[in-house]
Amino acid sequence: MKIKSADFLMSNSSVDKCPSAPFPEYAFIGRSNVGKSSLINMLTSRKSLAKTSGRPGKTQLINHFIINKQWYLVDLPGYGYARVSKKSKKTFQKYITDYFLKREQLIAAFLLIDIRHEPQPVDLEFMEWMGENGIPFAIIFTKADKLKPMAVQRNVESYIQALLDGIWEEAPTYFVTSSSSSYGREEVLNYIENINTSLIKNK
Ligand code: GDP
Repeated sequence: MKIKSADFLMSNSSVDKCPSAPFPEYAFIGRSNVGKSSLINMLTSRKSLAKTSGRPGKTQLINHFIINKQWYLVDLPGYGYARVSKKSKKTFQKYITDYFLKREQLIAAFLLIDIRHEPQPVDLEFMEWMGENGIPFAIIFTKADKLKPMAVQRNVESYIQALLDGIWEEAPTYFVTSSSSSYGREEVLNYIENINTSLIKNK
């Protein structure tokens, strides 16, 4: 997919106030520092698009961007480093869970995972929650340039195996990316484009 335009639309904290046009929407979420802003800038080939909404006071919000005047890209707040215990499942603030449960335009979420890290409880719990609620998601492994290719492959395989050893019967769709080298850019954009095209055909 060629990115012809990428514009910041709005930030808000309520799903009811999100833009109403019926464009297909893709949401990006992950732990703080996972590389989400960098990835959004890399995908859109804009140096500081994600920062636009990341200015102070705007980080804890649902940020909408419109891409090619055809689809919405949504930057959701990064969730914290705090380990989630069974008692404190409140890590995902209500407006975020509301967003996923109510946003009709949402086609899929991209859950970002730092390729260097072992599976983290907070990410696994979030995936489980997505699964329970029937919200389609794909994994985007970030920062692939930080490891040698063999280690990238090894980490991806062991991450996916951990999911299969857990609650997942099938491996989710996943992408390996680097915002420094733009590795994986075409794969992610083509995935979105293919879905968008099939939505138009099936209308
Ligand atoms: P966010 O908090 O998830 O939005 O993360 P940022 O995009 O701000 O990235 C967090 C840190 O990781 C920054 O220092 C980035 O420069 C770095 N980073 C992000 N993506 C990559 C990547 O693909 N490769 C490398 N080497 N560093 C990255």
